[in-house]
Amino acid sequence: MSDPKAVAEALSRAQSVLILSHANPDGDAVGSALGLMWALRRRRVHARVALSDPVPPTLAFLPGAEEIDGADVVDAPDVCVVLDSSSPNHVGDLFEHVTACGCLIVNVDHHVTNGRFGHVNWIDPSSPAVAQMIYRLLPLLGIRPDPQIATCLLTGFVTDTNGFSTPNTTPRLLRDAAELMAAGASLAEIMRQAFLNRSLTQVRLWAHALQTLCFEEGVVWTVNTPAMRQAVGATERDSSDLSTFLLTIREAHVAASFTVLDDGRVKVSLRAKPGYNVAQVAARFGGGGHPPAAGATLECSLDEAVESVVSALKAQVSGHTAEVKRS
Ligand code: AMP
Ligand code: MN
Ligand code: MN
Repeated sequence: MSDPKAVAEALSRAQSVLILSHANPDGDAVGSALGLMWALRRRRVHARVALSDPVPPTLAFLPGAEEIDGADVVDAPDVCVVLDSSSPNHVGDLFEHVTACGCLIVNVDHHVTNGRFGHVNWIDPSSPAVAQMIYRLLPLLGIRPDPQIATCLLTGFVTDTNGFSTPNTTPRLLRDAAELMAAGASLAEIMRQAFLNRSLTQVRLWAHALQTLCFEEGVVWTVNTPAMRQAVGATERDSSDLSTFLLTIREAHVAASFTVLDDGRVKVSLRAKPGYNVAQVAARFGGGGHPPAAGATLECSLDEAVESVVSALKAQVSGHTAEVKRS
């Protein structure tokens, strides 16, 4: 089964619902999860959200964010809804507790790489944000958006489309966004919280990482290390978004930000301009994502990670150039 009706049916039979999303959560992960939580609570369902990693400070303004925890699932829910996650791996440690409790797993996602790991799967890669899929689900649950629901869902729209700037921003998404504004969400406040709200520490880390900036054959990249983070008091999370900033460089077709994690693994965050596909590159290294934004975590040295990922990115850029020349 693969449609919103199957999801609505599963939810309408449930008394208690646990909502999960991916580790290292972004605005679509947290916004879609909290939006669904508030909608289910309006139906008097016992609903809560758990995540494997803390909510980033830029999303702390979302109503209900303070209730989210990563604690073990104490009471087995009837249904577990997994949002915006292409695989159980993407969810992190929490997923094991869910499979152990034997509840019905409902998988709602828009990653083209989704592994359909749920008992009920609704996968729509044409949707720019899972928050939009949740918005489409509301009428099937008999719920109209209130200001809380609208704020959470509009945040998912805004963050996954980088402020309505990605090519998958459709007229329908903008119409849905307008309806959420009419329901009480403040677009200006969401933009300010999500995008215009960096910590001084984060920018200091970026200053270190930008010292390592390299540019070759249309590929731009930086690295950041635990030593750089220690020097400014930053955490791993402060490296997020740097790849998005790097892609604003006019000469760059694709961008990569390499982060040596505290456990020694190397996380790479990839971004691409329209026409390039970094999801393909991430998938080769065991990761995933979308054509314009993807990521992977590699178990090798930083030098090996940079060497192999950058050469794959160069091949992606030159392959695209060859396509353009042929046509
Ligand atoms: P990031 O650069 O970490 O913000 O990730 C960009 C996109 O790639 C998001 O849609 C992530 O959900 C996805 N992504 C990042 N890392 C992974 C991974 N290890 N496996 C699957 N998807 C990933
Ligand atoms: Mn996400
Ligand atoms: Mn998403």
